[in-house]
Amino acid sequence: MIARVTLEMAVGKEFDYSIPPEWAGAVTVGARVKIPFARREVLGCVTALLESSPHPNLKPILKVIGQQAPVTPEILRLTRWMAEYYCCAPEIALKAALPDAVRKEKAGWREQLFVRALPGDDAALTRRQREIFQLVRAQPDWPLQSFLAAAKTTAPMLRKLEDKGLLVIAPQISERDPYARETILPTTPLTLNPEQRAALDPILAAMESPGKKPPFLLYGVTGSGKTEVYLQAIARALELGRGAIVLVPEISLTPQTVERFKARFTSGPRPTLVAVLHSHLSGGERHDEWHKIRQGRARIVIGARSAVFAPVASLGLIIVDEEHEHSYKQEEAPRYHARDVAVVRAQIEGAVAVLGSATPSMESYHNVDKGKYRLLEMPSRVDDRKMPIVRVVDMRLAARQEKGTPIFSPQLKEAITKRLERSEQTLLFLNRRGFASSLQCPLCGYVAQCPNCSLSLTYHRQAQRLKCHICSHDVPAPLVCPDPKCRNPAIRFAGVGTERVEATLSKLFPKARVRRMDSDTLKRKEDYRNILGDFRTGKIDILVGTQMIAKGLHFPNVTLVGIVHADLALHLPDFRAGERTFQLLTQVAGRAGRGDVEGEVFVQAFTPFHPAIQYARRHDFRGFYEQEIDFRRQLNYPPLGRLALILLRGKNEDKVKLSAEHVKNELAKETASLRGLVISGPAAAPLARAEGNYRYQIMLRTKQMSALSGCLALLSGRLALPEDVTMTIDVDPASLI
Ligand code: ADP
Ligand code: ZN
Repeated sequence: MIARVTLEMAVGKEFDYSIPPEWAGAVTVGARVKIPFARREVLGCVTALLESSPHPNLKPILKVIGQQAPVTPEILRLTRWMAEYYCCAPEIALKAALPDAVRKEKAGWREQLFVRALPGDDAALTRRQREIFQLVRAQPDWPLQSFLAAAKTTAPMLRKLEDKGLLVIAPQISERDPYARETILPTTPLTLNPEQRAALDPILAAMESPGKKPPFLLYGVTGSGKTEVYLQAIARALELGRGAIVLVPEISLTPQTVERFKARFTSGPRPTLVAVLHSHLSGGERHDEWHKIRQGRARIVIGARSAVFAPVASLGLIIVDEEHEHSYKQEEAPRYHARDVAVVRAQIEGAVAVLGSATPSMESYHNVDKGKYRLLEMPSRVDDRKMPIVRVVDMRLAARQEKGTPIFSPQLKEAITKRLERSEQTLLFLNRRGFASSLQCPLCGYVAQCPNCSLSLTYHRQAQRLKCHICSHDVPAPLVCPDPKCRNPAIRFAGVGTERVEATLSKLFPKARVRRMDSDTLKRKEDYRNILGDFRTGKIDILVGTQMIAKGLHFPNVTLVGIVHADLALHLPDFRAGERTFQLLTQVAGRAGRGDVEGEVFVQAFTPFHPAIQYARRHDFRGFYEQEIDFRRQLNYPPLGRLALILLRGKNEDKVKLSAEHVKNELAKETASLRGLVISGPAAAPLARAEGNYRYQIMLRTKQMSALSGCLALLSGRLALPEDVTMTIDVDPASLI
């Protein structure tokens, strides 16, 4: 027999190896193997077993790694599809499916010393020794360190007892559990309301029936109880003997969310481990969580983007919550979109895919229109709670009333005052951190620019520094204009960030307890839960934050939400700017009025009549969709056409530009036979320079992505570009900036 192997190093090809007799049974599809390659030993993954190979003189496989093949045949198929569709090498696609922590050659289990009592007689012991021995016997396995602390004794003392044959001290695998310190109270299923019932039943029916299962789009407004529907669908999957994956955006993978799933399934009629995968786990924790899944001990996985590859056996259900979130798109190779990969994986495994959102993506809703997805709707909030009242405040008027632009309109100030009087809580949202978005000299016009990026530096007042939000360039903030000819001491900060909102609030409402939550205030792992904990227990009156507070949070005492600058991202040069703004406003507004008191939302905007803002005000997703789809149709933008973006970047602008021209010409030849393909550019990207690299783009619009992907793969295989120019291909890009 012969094994075909994808190497882990990037060579873009597969190679055949012979299977020596001693490894005959162990080499399976998906197994990781060590093989000789170019006089070295490298690692690879077996992708097929063959009777014969076109190549003579095959070298043998040296070794099989691990007892269980880490990649299942289904995941192998999935990564093959990814490599083709997203135009990347097979080993790159495969790499996405196996976390680094699992790919290390040495198994990454943590071993720890444990103390265990043996049957024996303590008659010959001293009083102190007897005490210690009793304590060892009190628990079947004691981690040595915690035992020493509990017994207030030392290792040599224990070794004496070990010498007497009364106990053993030996290493054992101890599993790391990132949630070990939590006490989670079990919950039982809630009685569904009619809307939830009507959404759940078709999902259950699809899971129970054999055959093809079109994906579901669960469109349920904020607070409609989508999570309860997910939980009950998962419970049924377990009853059917199948596993489930729940994807949530990294940012909403809060302890609160994880708890809701653990609380339902770690006890009850079919207890199972719930594995959690996200980027804040240590390598060791990720290793252990992954193996809990691969060994079948955890049947439910909740995680961010890459959890779509979790090796759940006999997968029955994949849920993609907040399916519209663009963080599901990976911004480095393989540039996959986890929602779309989830749909393909469900198809391969015969599982049901459920995409949930209060603001579905244009893509998914269009798929409903085309009959590819089935729509499930939950248009009202649980317990007949009302949707919050949304008031749009025209900031141009506020600017006219007060000299200069105020951060808070009089309306919002008054609303905050009322909440403080009534001891209700307020969330204030602004999607920009720092104090001011730029530093400018009013005399000479100097603006502090990042030396590496075409972007101005953000002023962070507490740290007294200027920072680039793209490349993290970071310098002390100047006290006078740095231009040697000017030296003006009255340098000015323009624009607002969360830090400035917080500072202004403290001035306006000196008695209010204000806290800020953005990536600057979250330095340690616990900060996030501490702030949210304080907010929940009423120790904070006003919470200011970036998109971190926009999603998934459920605080019944929040009756006011203020959006400080709603059109911040509305005029970016990206065709999705309107969609993004609509989604963000709807999500943020959805945090208000989730308890007994009706919620109120103030949206401050300089373009208050923009459709994205007006439809969000009326909670009218469909209205927004209808007008937006017209706009997309006119320009052949997704979801009506498909998009691919070729980006060239390098330190030398001329070389980048020339390479981009060259790529375009070659591309035109390669795709001559493709009908309806539109090639635009090359042109400088909206972010023309980042991290010291000049950036040029070519945009491709097509109706048939698979044909284009094929051409792009051929092209990138044969193109010769200067060494210091890098080309990337992004299929279905999430951002055009
Ligand atoms: P969504 O995810 O759609 O925004 P959630 O799942 O967070 O909504 O539900 C909002 C609140 O309603 C939660 O506190 C949840 O426990 C509660 N809830 C959901 N379904 C029911 C139900 N059938 N009966 C009572 N309360 C429910
Ligand atoms: Zn920079």
